[in-house]
Amino acid sequence: MRQTRAEKLISVLFPARCALCGRVVAPERRLCADCLSEAEPIAGETCPRCAMPKKRCSCGKRVHFYDEAIGAYIYDGVVKEGVLRYKKNGDRRAAYFFSEAAAAKYREKCLSYADYIAYIPQRRNETRERGFDQARELAALLSENLNIPLFDGMVKLYDVPPQKTLSHLYKRGNVAGIFDISTPEIVGGKTFLLFDDVKTTGETLEECAKMLKLYGAQRVVALTFAVTEKKRRPDPEKGSKQEM
Ligand SMILES: [Zn+2]
Ligand SMILES: [Zn+2]
Repeated sequence: MRQTRAEKLISVLFPARCALCGRVVAPERRLCADCLSEAEPIAGETCPRCAMPKKRCSCGKRVHFYDEAIGAYIYDGVVKEGVLRYKKNGDRRAAYFFSEAAAAKYREKCLSYADYIAYIPQRRNETRERGFDQARELAALLSENLNIPLFDGMVKLYDVPPQKTLSHLYKRGNVAGIFDISTPEIVGGKTFLLFDDVKTTGETLEECAKMLKLYGAQRVVALTFAVTEKKRRPDPEKGSKQEM
């Protein structure tokens, strides 16, 4: 395909960049060769509770308020760096990549059609501090991509310490009761796709799913761009043997 002079100039001034690491790439590429080979897509049969490939699931079969969890990539290496980079600089290329990958995964995995796309809400002061509402931005792109309306009715009532600053023990309690729904009349009987960039322990997604279910949602699917692999606890017997 021949480029016009204007197109050539634009591609020199604003070259395409890798959505994860920011390196310059060919215009039609989303990822550079290194990120493409290092990023690990979640493939094959997956656990519906934690979204990990079945062979690597260690979620302990805990029952959740969301009916199913789906994720596109393992949160590690270049994927993790890409997400952290996006959180810092809000690069739209990353946002497009995350929402496209999640949309593709949803199309592959989900048989039922969702009525709304919901996202984890921020407080206004959080949006001001960060300069943008990253969760809403990603959900809006996913909404465009899948042609499913965005649900803006979830609200965050209180400021709490960020989940990543707490040990696992306190994460569930930290988010308990911090969300509400401002438009409960449209939730009853509906299917929601609850979208976020990363699922770590999943407590925040769980709390949002709980609110949707309390207001009568029929089904909630937790969809994330990336999923953190839960490290298996070391076997105490093995540990003691190694020490001997
Ligand atoms: Zn890259
Ligand atoms: Zn699992």
